[in-house]
This record gives sequence, C-alpha cells and structure tokens, in this order.
Amino acid sequence: MIQKILILAAFLISGLTSAAQNDYLESDAEDVEKTYIGGESYEVKTFSQNFKAKKPKNVILFIVDGMSLPHLHAGLTANKGSLFLTNFKYMGLATTHSANKYITDSAAGGTALSTGQKTTNGAIGVDVNKKPIKTILEEAEEKGLATGLVSTSSITHATPASFIAHQESRNMYEEIAADFLKTDIDVFIGGGYKHFTERKDGRNLVEELTQKNYRVEQDINTIKNIKNGKLAGLTASEHNGRMDERGDMLPVATSTAINILSNNKKGFFMMVEGSQVDWGGHAGSTIYVVEDMLDTDRAVGKALEFAAQNKQTLVVVTSDHETGGMTILEGNYETGMVKGEFTTGGHTGIMVPVMAYGPGAEQFTGFMDNTDIPKKIRKLLIGN
Ligand code: MG
Ligand code: ZN
Repeated sequence: MIQKILILAAFLISGLTSAAQNDYLESDAEDVEKTYIGGESYEVKTFSQNFKAKKPKNVILFIVDGMSLPHLHAGLTANKGSLFLTNFKYMGLATTHSANKYITDSAAGGTALSTGQKTTNGAIGVDVNKKPIKTILEEAEEKGLATGLVSTSSITHATPASFIAHQESRNMYEEIAADFLKTDIDVFIGGGYKHFTERKDGRNLVEELTQKNYRVEQDINTIKNIKNGKLAGLTASEHNGRMDERGDMLPVATSTAINILSNNKKGFFMMVEGSQVDWGGHAGSTIYVVEDMLDTDRAVGKALEFAAQNKQTLVVVTSDHETGGMTILEGNYETGMVKGEFTTGGHTGIMVPVMAYGPGAEQFTGFMDNTDIPKKIRKLLIGN
C-alpha cells in the first residue's frame, strides 16, 4: 500500500515537473526577458588621454563578472551607441581557463586576476595545493598603498574574496569574512553583513572591525558622505538586489572608495566588481545583462573621471569568464533595443576583453592570459 502511494506520488511529481518544463518552453515570459526594449540612455563623457607619468600611482581594476563581447555590445546598443567604456584605447583579449578546468568559475578566475596564478575551480587565494598565495591587494598594502574592494554581491563572494581571503572553498563565507580582519584594507563596500555577524563561531566581526577603527555602515546614503578613515560598508545582509532595489549603489560606492583611498600620498589599489552581469547570463536574461552592464559602465565613468583629472591612475577593465554563451540576434542603436540569445545556463570558455586607460595602458594589448593581468599591474604599481 505504502509502495503504491509512493509510486503514485512520484508519478504526480514527475507529471507536475514536466508540465512546468513545458510551460517554460512554451511561455513568452522567457522571450520577454531576452529582449531589452530600449529606454532612456545616459550621456557619456570623453576623457583626455594625457597622463603625467609612464607608471601609475594608483590602479583601479574592474572585474565585470561574466562579461565578454556580447554583454559589452548589448550594453553599447542599449545605451544607443555610447558607453564610458569607449574611452578605452588600449584593448586585448584574455584566456580564462583554470588549473583544472577549461571553463573556470569565479573563484579560480578571481584568484588568477588577484595573484597571477592558476588554481582549481572553487579555490580562493590559494594554489592547487591549497597553499595561500599573496594577492596584488596584499602586496600593495605591504608597500604602504591604500587598498579597497567594492562589489554589488556579498563582499565575501568569490570575486572580491579572491583578493583578500585564502580559503580552499568559495562557500566558506564566514571564514572569508574573518580573513578581512587579518588585513589592513582601508575600504570595502558590498553586501554580506550577515557573514560578519551571524556566525557559527559566535564572533561578532562588526564589533571587531569597530575595535580596529573601522566605521561600519549599512546605508549607502551615509556611506557616500564619508571622506576619510577606515570604512566597512555592508549594504545588504547577503547580496545587494537588482538595480530597481539597489539604485546607483555601485557608482556611488566606487566614488566614495576612490575619495577615501586617494588621501594616501603613496597611492592605492582597488578592485571594483560589477557582479551581476554573470547572474543575468545565468538567468538567460538580456534585460538583466543590460541593466548591470550599464550600471558597471557608470561606475567605470566615475573611475575615469577621477583618473582623467588625477593623470596618475591606471584603470583596467576585464572579466573572469563569459556567462550564458550569449549572442545578439537583433538590435537598434536609435531605440536601444537589443535581443540576446543564450546557449547555456553556465559559463563558457570564450576569451574576455581587457581594456586599459591611463599610464601603462599600452601594456594591456594583444593576446594574453588572465594571469598576465595582475603581473602587469604588479610591475607597474609595485615595481617587481
Ligand atoms: Mg563575482
Ligand atoms: Zn557565474
């Protein structure tokens, strides 16, 4: 009898699942997400290409998680043919494979970009033998430069974590949060408040940060007025929401961090992540991809504005991998309409663009591997 009930239950569940799957295939909801119908565009400034020195004093590295040419071009079309990114004159292409996989994840991709070494998928700031590798942020800090991290995802998520933490798994969020306390990072702004406070080990890292003279704030409207000192901006319990929820958190956080870090006379290194182009790719949503490409582009605009006036700042924009196997089937530069298509719900192995502006930008051209990017930055900023 029990067996019969179980069989019936299994049958019903599989029936429901396949009906749901058919809905998914037949409904237009999917197609709606695949077409961004266009909307208001923003004005883009052209910045001077005159710089003070051959080597930069400051480096701002942008990682647009999941971006390759289709995402970039979707953004370009949606903003009717112009982006802050079109200020970049020096461009290259980077391969992204990890130590053990042709297709990387964001942990191995982030670690390649933070250390110049390949590691296994899932690993954060450690090599294939799980040994910690010093990151470019840690090296900059040792040299007396100011350092910062900004992200729309949780600050403990794979991409920002790769620059400051050393853990064998990207899922060890609480251990990653604790690694922030082992450093003297000056500014970090992102989500992830709960990984600092709701912890199995009972530690309250917000209290510990406060004891280390960090100002810990959760509201971006408070954060944006902070001009100096150490800052931990934890603007969401976990990840910051989509654009309709988080607003201009990323461009504002980028400007705020630059303001604070530029107080250091020796210079600074910061990494800014546009986290959610990747999530748009995973969701097969052109709308989500466009939203986050344009948001990240506006954050890049804030960095370029500072760099153009400062003249000693190198801005590098790249990605950890492509997401969604995206392509573009239709578009319109007048209306901003763009219709995407996706070939997978995961990542792909296709190369990603590398773009550079500022002193040393000419180093970032041609074919390279993702591990070459931090090596070039290290040579320019730290000098060995
Ligand atoms: Mg990421
Ligand atoms: Zn992803």
